[in-house]
Amino acid sequence: MSTTPEFRNFIDGGWVAARNDEWIDVVSPRNRQVIARVPRGGEKDVADAVEAAGRAFPGWRDTAPRARGRLLQQIADAIEPHIERIGRQIADENGNALRTQARGEVQYAVDVFHYFGSVASETKGETIPLNAHVLDYSRREPIGVVGAIVPWNAPVQLASMKIAAALAAGNSLVLKAAEDAPLAVLEIVKICADFLPAGVLNCVVGYGTEAGEALITHPAVRKLSFTGSTAVGKRVMAAAAERIVPVSLELGGKNPQIVFPDADEDWVVQGVVTGMRFVRQGQSCTAGSRLFVHHSIVDSFVEKVTAHLSKLKVGDPLDEATDMGAVVNQKQYDRVCSFIDEGLQRGEARVAIGGRPPSEGPLSEGYYIEPTVFVGIENDWRIAQEEIFGPVLCVIPWDDEEEVVRMANDTHYGLSAFVWTHDLGKALRTAHAIDAGWVQVNQGGGQVLGQSYGGYKQSGIGREFSLEGMLESFTERKHVSVDTSH
Ligand code: NAD
Repeated sequence: MSTTPEFRNFIDGGWVAARNDEWIDVVSPRNRQVIARVPRGGEKDVADAVEAAGRAFPGWRDTAPRARGRLLQQIADAIEPHIERIGRQIADENGNALRTQARGEVQYAVDVFHYFGSVASETKGETIPLNAHVLDYSRREPIGVVGAIVPWNAPVQLASMKIAAALAAGNSLVLKAAEDAPLAVLEIVKICADFLPAGVLNCVVGYGTEAGEALITHPAVRKLSFTGSTAVGKRVMAAAAERIVPVSLELGGKNPQIVFPDADEDWVVQGVVTGMRFVRQGQSCTAGSRLFVHHSIVDSFVEKVTAHLSKLKVGDPLDEATDMGAVVNQKQYDRVCSFIDEGLQRGEARVAIGGRPPSEGPLSEGYYIEPTVFVGIENDWRIAQEEIFGPVLCVIPWDDEEEVVRMANDTHYGLSAFVWTHDLGKALRTAHAIDAGWVQVNQGGGQVLGQSYGGYKQSGIGREFSLEGMLESFTERKHVSVDTSH
């Protein structure tokens, strides 16, 4: 008998296998071993979940917002004692290092449930002074059944955002977890299940082309909230267009970091490395993967970056000494390697550190890729234009401020950007000129709750990380106009 742990879908308050009894193996990128199996959910499972969410919706909608908020806060408290266990689960299933990433991600989920729990009763409307006899007021009403889809790179953070924001506003939810990293998400759902009425939250695991398609095309789903690649985002938007349902899309990025000549300093190097999300193997939508460094400092700056990166320890994500774990799966590993090969083949570029991953030794046992920096890249090369979603940084030299802004904007993405200089005028001029939803000046950290975070251009539509984002993404606005003269 197999001893592989088995996880199930959560539908209508119960844990169930897929109706067709098919399964997906979850493989750990640490060592390529199967660590669990999860249901290969499909159309029927999604239909069961959407129907359950539809039945649960009126009761949840009519629960006082304060009471909904209190339940979300209780969920936050209940997750807290499990940070270590769930953090280890993330590290094991998606390869993010426990110390530098995975543990913090679960703490972030705790903060998310607290945040949205505390703003649940802020779903206020307005009154408008139309004239003396008319009372016109607006209501923020939940939309109904929300279909939410998350990727594998920050599965717990992103699933928690969607669960907490949608539920705080009074919607019910069907969540499709990513097939590559569903386990920690199911652990979060399990904790939520102790507090929520049956059907309010449902979670189905399965492939995008099966469970994902079933969810985005289901006629009873009234809102789609998707985080993932731009290619799939386009498909989600097309499915939403068929039924005219609102859609929020948080998609990819190929984000610029601009280093001015006065910023050839260690703290900038540290910030650039953080901004590139090397300790997440570059697997972040906000990774600043195009590094524009002024010609006059490029050699010395790259030398400092290289020295800094050479100290990062790549290895088993569960090892406390590890800074940087493994990329998520074979497909992603092959994709990143193909970009590295392409860079290596271009005679004009040079590799400052990293390159092809080792084919023997302990790092060859999992999907480990060392931090890699290419210097002398042109902004229009494929390696500088496509989202690699791996630990590969492209250094592009520049001379003129206008030129660098033009190059930074010369991409179909527009998610985030970073500007590094002591000159505040230059910094703000550049921040305002860049087409991106989030520009950081002299800092390189991750999204903070309360920021209405999201993308320009093909990086997405809508905002979800804040109270305003919750109102925009998960409520409908209704006006009621009353003639008081009768
Ligand atoms: P992906 O688009 O391949 O998959 C994301 C999710 O969509 C998965 O759950 C997948 O099963 C599902 N899916 C795939 N095809 C589908 C379909 N036809 N219909 C419905 N669902 C489908 O992305 P990924 O490789 O898992 O994640 C990496 C991408 O996510 C990167 O592009 C990254 O930039 C992006 N991302 C964006 C943000 C953001 O906030 N903007 C955050 C994290 C990740």
